[in-house]
Amino acid sequence: MQQDGLIARLCNRPGLRLGVMGGTFDPVHIAHLVTAQEALVHFDLDQVLFMPAGDAPHKSRHGAPPEFRYLLVATATASNPHFSVSRFEIDRNKVSYTVDTLEYLAGIVPQGTEMFFITGADAVLEILTWKDPARVLELSAFIAATRPGYDLSRLSELLEELRSKTVDLVPEARVRIMEVPALAISSSMIRERLAVGKTVRYLVPDPVAELIDKSGYYKTGGSQTAGRKRCRP
Ligand code: ATP
Ligand code: MG
Repeated sequence: MQQDGLIARLCNRPGLRLGVMGGTFDPVHIAHLVTAQEALVHFDLDQVLFMPAGDAPHKSRHGAPPEFRYLLVATATASNPHFSVSRFEIDRNKVSYTVDTLEYLAGIVPQGTEMFFITGADAVLEILTWKDPARVLELSAFIAATRPGYDLSRLSELLEELRSKTVDLVPEARVRIMEVPALAISSSMIRERLAVGKTVRYLVPDPVAELIDKSGYYKTGGSQTAGRKRCRP
């Protein structure tokens, strides 16, 4: 698997600091990249591993299929040697809970690796609804990035609730808040714009915009193969 190759490449580094950025990335946009880059720098990470989610086989989705979302993330991250993308979740034919993904990564990273799960404010505020949140916090520290429209002041209260479920760690100490430049961008907003034919230029990297345009995904009722119509001479 690709991430096994990544881990092998990093194996020689003692005390590897690995960021993991989970998401649907439907599609990936510049706020994802800015958040990952800020985490890389502020927390002195060696790598950020993007982890696009797979689709639940029983669930019908309106977005693009996993393989295409993976392609977009791979394209968006290609020019940054500190960014990689994993196929782990999209290759599994079932829902991947964060705890399962982190258990998997914990099993293949070099001993002494520290993992940092990077989320936006909205995702971290849902932490109590995740499968086995106490174990998630044991496996990985958290970097909670600020996001317009979401208030992180409730976070310490939520973490307090987890305190009784953890033995060896203080949940509050495992989550660090990171201020990132406020970008009121979401994949939903990008899908909505594409559906009505609005441009997403500069909201996603140029090669990502080109791939989206060629694919026809996200167009309302659009064919998934059609690109632009050819101009008549
Ligand atoms: P959707 O609208 O489909 O939910 P999204 O923009 O929230 O898409 P996701 O793939 O759900 O993107 O998010 C992946 C991760 O990136 C999440 O942790 C999310 O909180 C974070 N994130 C997404 N957009 C931003 C943003 N503008 N600022 C900070 N974090 C963000
Ligand atoms: Mg989201």
